[in-house]
Amino acid sequence: MTDSITVRSPRTGAVVGNVPITFPAGVADVVSRSRKAFEQWSRLTPEERRPYLKALLRTLAHNIDRVADVIVSETGKDRGDAIGGDIVIALANLDYYARHAHRLLRPRPGKWWPLPLTKAWTEFHPRGVAGVISPWNFPFQLSLNPVVTALAAGCSVVLKPSEVTPLSGQLVAELAAEADLPADLVMVINGYGDTGEALVRGGVDVVAFTGSTETGKLVAKAAADRLVPTILELGGKDAMLVLADADPDLAARAAVFGSTFNAGQACTSVERVYVVDSIYEPFLAAAERTMRSLTAGDGGRSDIGVITYPQQLGLIEEQVREAVAKGATVVVGGHRVGDNAYAPTLLTEVDHRMLVCRDETFGPVLSVMRVPDETTALELCNDSRYGLHGSVWTKDHRKGVRLASQMQTGTVAINDITINFFVPSVPFGGIKESGYGASFGPEGLYAYCYPKGITLARVAPVTKLLGAWLPRRPPPFGGPRHWKRIGRLVARR
Ligand code: NAD
Repeated sequence: MTDSITVRSPRTGAVVGNVPITFPAGVADVVSRSRKAFEQWSRLTPEERRPYLKALLRTLAHNIDRVADVIVSETGKDRGDAIGGDIVIALANLDYYARHAHRLLRPRPGKWWPLPLTKAWTEFHPRGVAGVISPWNFPFQLSLNPVVTALAAGCSVVLKPSEVTPLSGQLVAELAAEADLPADLVMVINGYGDTGEALVRGGVDVVAFTGSTETGKLVAKAAADRLVPTILELGGKDAMLVLADADPDLAARAAVFGSTFNAGQACTSVERVYVVDSIYEPFLAAAERTMRSLTAGDGGRSDIGVITYPQQLGLIEEQVREAVAKGATVVVGGHRVGDNAYAPTLLTEVDHRMLVCRDETFGPVLSVMRVPDETTALELCNDSRYGLHGSVWTKDHRKGVRLASQMQTGTVAINDITINFFVPSVPFGGIKESGYGASFGPEGLYAYCYPKGITLARVAPVTKLLGAWLPRRPPPFGGPRHWKRIGRLVARR
């Protein structure tokens, strides 16, 4: 067994880096070093931590090209996808928590009105050492975002990036050092699934996992042994609903963009489109036209970069092959481009018996289905084991909002595509087998905290005043009389 991971460009096969492996036996030591860093970091107030987040934000903003070079080198993705999809989203998240974390972490008052003499509030305390495990598709932002959120909450972090893209994870530690964050506050370990599992079991206090649903379930089981809380950002099978009053051309171009950016290797890719019958034909014509105009293959000189993880290509091919065998029509694409890319692909005559409608494809493949009305579109959208993201297209904003609320997903965009990732003030996360917990927003921050409820008897112990203490005083001062009074008071209000 080698003690390092050699990273190769998925485009050229050339070696682009090498990282040492931390084997499972060494993980607990890293976690205890991280705990020492946590003890110092958590002594700072949220206001005192703020300048560090701002320094990290500045450091990243000044190093966009360097970070993009690393991402492109190990993923083979298009440079625009690297800057937009990886770096700008990371900047947005950093900006949000640098601005708001200190305010969100202030104690929240919350006494109960029938007990005015008891002051009460909630404090938000950092959980401790956060274990962050990230995937290969957006290897930088999906590493940096949980790291930043954990730091903002007051946690220290041990990050295990994907073995497919460890250089982007390495960059997170480098940038943290360049921004003068305290030593050992952000530590990176490299390795395969066994190192990831050792991290989950290695004494961390919270786990943020982004990856496949199958691995997410293993992480949840391993974390359950010590009841370690987990945030699970898992796979998706995102649907787009195109209603009768939508602009078919605009919606079709959005669908093509949504299914092909990052070569379809996005948890929020548009993978299924349900188009209401009356605009199906113009929608399909526009989708076909747009898709035919795209080039794929040589990341950097085409619209669609290569597939980062070679095994993924086989999976995409298998899903398309199975769909065709069951009656699907390939309108555009449906084949590899060179050794390592997949052509933008448009499928029709698809249905929910096919893998391409049920399982995550994670490639530039768009399945379009004709539906009689929006009710059917919604039913089919919700007929999925996943529930991550989706979109609704309509000129009627009210209707869009109603359908968005009825979609069984953690996030929805109305008349836009995957924009939610650029809006860090609202939570992002899945339901069903897309996971639980959230990134972004107040909820994302609180996931790394434990809420502590505190009460203060302002005048005297209220339990004593209510005659609850033992031995009980005789009526009218003791016994159930006062409790009954409170019960009635609550019902009267
Ligand atoms: P993966 O599940 O194969 O691996 C993710 C990480 O888990 C890697 O670092 C891997 O080494 C580690 N790992 C593997 N086995 C482990 C174990 N037993 N215990 C702990 N860690 C283990 O996922 P992937 O192929 O790298 O990423 C693609 C998946 O990620 C897709 O399903 C995609 O939808 C999902 N994803 C989800 C989101 C989201 O926000 N919901 C975002 C991006 C990607």
